[in-house]
Amino acid sequence: MHRFQRKNGLLYAEGVSLDGLADRLGTPLYVYSAGTILDHYRRLRRVLRALDPLICYSVKANSNLAILSLLARAGSGFDVVSGGELERVRKAGGKMERCVFAGVGKTDDEIEAGLRFGVKAFHVESEEELDQIATVSGRKKGRRAPIALRVNPDVEAGGHAKITTGTYENKFGIPFEQVAATYRRAGGDPRLCLRGVQMHIGSQITRAAPFRAAVRKMMPLVERLRDRHGLEYFDVGGGLGIVYEDALASGRDSWWNTPKADRSMTLPDYATSLVPFLRELKMKILLEPGRFLVGNAGVLVSEVLYRKDNGRKHFTVVDAGMNDLVRPSMYEAYHQIEPVGKPRPGALFTDVVGPVCESSDVFCRDRSISPLERGDRVAILSAGAYGFSMASNYNTRPRPAEVLVTGTRARVIRCREAMADLWRGERKS
Ligand SMILES: *Cc1c(COP(=O)(O)O)cnc(C)c1O
Repeated sequence: MHRFQRKNGLLYAEGVSLDGLADRLGTPLYVYSAGTILDHYRRLRRVLRALDPLICYSVKANSNLAILSLLARAGSGFDVVSGGELERVRKAGGKMERCVFAGVGKTDDEIEAGLRFGVKAFHVESEEELDQIATVSGRKKGRRAPIALRVNPDVEAGGHAKITTGTYENKFGIPFEQVAATYRRAGGDPRLCLRGVQMHIGSQITRAAPFRAAVRKMMPLVERLRDRHGLEYFDVGGGLGIVYEDALASGRDSWWNTPKADRSMTLPDYATSLVPFLRELKMKILLEPGRFLVGNAGVLVSEVLYRKDNGRKHFTVVDAGMNDLVRPSMYEAYHQIEPVGKPRPGALFTDVVGPVCESSDVFCRDRSISPLERGDRVAILSAGAYGFSMASNYNTRPRPAEVLVTGTRARVIRCREAMADLWRGERKS
């Protein structure tokens, strides 16, 4: 249950008014609720308690050091996809033995860093990468490189094409049919240590069926690999979808506990479809949720600059753009948009757009929202995952500040970028 709600008509993050934060820190501004993140983490653990899984938070969803530190203190592990993310986890105090290293294109430097820091395992996505990890490990003559193969189970996840990862149309993983042979080869290599097996079929998956289909398809293979190679863990990946619509509906838990009319999966659905199978394995179970933990724990606060009407359409221009939150332009993603102040009576049909010089810089099209005026602020909801972490400086725009709220306390966890940051490292001549 997220902790953004109205009090006397005004929008709050936990005990802190969003208008007050925007007055103090300016806009656009990312605001996260620490209580929400911890609540999601604990809920997931509770519903899967029969498995006592290791939750490895997928760092790319939101990689701010304060968020990583919050989750590390709660006991979370981490799933990283680059040397940069690995360094972030270390800096935030995350334990390396709870950190798995994924990604299709690890460089030698990144492999060396993973070995040096002692990650739990590399999640290997190709034969050639496996050979390279063995080579780098052999050069170092230290401990064997711990590895797990990422299996592509060739299962449709039913999400957006740009975030589907578990079919043979995608670049990810080793084809299901080749996995046993690759383990056999790796098992005979003294530079490698076989620790687990992994899959990740996609993101924003809102039904239990694809997870169940993938796990069922994987089960016999995983059992065989466990017996043959002594694998310790099966990592079922991330991908749990969240509710983006009605994220602020008052008076009910609009999130997970309330099955939607379209019968999206609830958290208990996810658990009941996986736990019985996974328990049988008697292996350590790993999960890699990203969006699920942080998605509904963040909002992007923005101010209305102008309104315009060309006779056919009405536009509301706000000071946040696609460079700050790219999901609507990149994935046609839906984000609820709410006035931060008391909603005005009536409704307005409008496109909420940013200032960036691209036609795709649109947060919503022809949406009915409460009337807005210049100077009003809006909150773009469910922006905690793949928001700031995908932000860019396109149009030479400084990236927003980030704030973490805990109860009535608000802490700036990243300062707004200054102009000078934008050309740091550049040379005029
Ligand atoms: C992105 C990613 C995740 C997290 O996905 P979510 O949909 O945010 O849960 C987990 N594992 C891997 C390998 C990923 O690439």
